[in-house]
Amino acid sequence: MAAYPPGYSAQPAVVINPPIIQQSVFRHVPVRMRCQFCNAEITTSTSFETGALTWIIAGVLLLFGLWLGCCLIPFCIDGCKDVVHTCPSCQQVVGKFNRM
Ligand SMILES: [Zn+2]
Repeated sequence: MAAYPPGYSAQPAVVINPPIIQQSVFRHVPVRMRCQFCNAEITTSTSFETGALTWIIAGVLLLFGLWLGCCLIPFCIDGCKDVVHTCPSCQQVVGKFNRM
């Protein structure tokens, strides 16, 4: 005898799948969202910006004696930078991924 737990239903659950997440989580990749400025359905365009983490890594490299220009490495690596998401339609900044 298979005993189903109370409340179990063989009916498939209704999947509520909103087409667009209003409050997107911004990472280092473009996200699909609705622009809060022009209300258009967009895929954000990303650009990298020197952030606090970039400066901290540069400072740490400097402390470890990598002063022969190596402390400038973080400024060349996009992975160390903040990511700014802009709307390709109205060019407004719709979000920012801060690595700190
Ligand atoms: Zn827009």
